[in-house]
Amino acid sequence: MTSPQQLEQPAEAGRTRAIGAPIISAQDVQKHFGSFHALRGVNLTVRQGEVVVIIGPSGSGKSTFIRTINALDPHDGGSITVDNIPLDGQGNLDAIRREVGMVFQSFNLFPHLTVLENITLAPTRVRKTSKADAEKRGLELLRRVGIEEQAHKYPAQLSGGQQQRVAIARALAMDPKIMLFDEPTSALDPEMIKEVLDVMKELARSGMTMLVVTHEMGFAREVADRILFFDQGNIVEDTTPDEFYHHPKHDRAKQFLSKIL
Ligand code: ADP
Ligand code: MG
Repeated sequence: MTSPQQLEQPAEAGRTRAIGAPIISAQDVQKHFGSFHALRGVNLTVRQGEVVVIIGPSGSGKSTFIRTINALDPHDGGSITVDNIPLDGQGNLDAIRREVGMVFQSFNLFPHLTVLENITLAPTRVRKTSKADAEKRGLELLRRVGIEEQAHKYPAQLSGGQQQRVAIARALAMDPKIMLFDEPTSALDPEMIKEVLDVMKELARSGMTMLVVTHEMGFAREVADRILFFDQGNIVEDTTPDEFYHHPKHDRAKQFLSKIL
């Protein structure tokens, strides 16, 4: 586990990471659910190493958008490219999902598998890693998220914060290039939010490219390179955290901030 001292670096620490070439490119992305137009021409480029926080009112399309990025929800217009792989033909789905890890609000661990088995499942099945190698790496990842001693327990024996840290370790076990988080702390009791955010901050500092839907404003200000504000199926602000908090341009963003701050 990263020492508390490392975790308490000043706000600027998160923004000194090297930002590389574009790794996600979304152009005019559209998504319909029946007659409902959920994504209305989303354009976005994310560079390697960037941490992008997505905020916006409930129902504005945040989850739908990040789910299109690993094709959990297929988009139905425009184009998405992830690490030079176009996300259009069905044949690319496996390749994309290997590059993109996802963490959900509700953890989604397999209840009948131990913590370590949850983590080794995909590497052994999908990547054909040997059981011994997958377990060694799994234990390293559990150490990284601070719960190595829980390896042989079942999810139900863990707190919510611990379960979410297992979910993060499980996603990292596939060595993704990008991590997507959809409100990862929204289902947690307040005292467990920090332990999950600390793991995410460490991940950000390690250079991981991250898209994070969250309303945790402290996290966003400390770690995000950019804030995207979604409203009615589109990005209506794409700016730095400081600019967003001090000078929101869009009326909906102003209203939203006045409610949550
Ligand atoms: P957010 O994550 O910003 O709260 P979502 O992306 O979950 O919003 O949803 C955007 C809109 O799309 C909402 O109005 C929601 O009701 C609708 N929607 C999302 N998923 C589905 C679905 N599977 N079927 C029908 N409508 C959906
Ligand atoms: Mg959502």
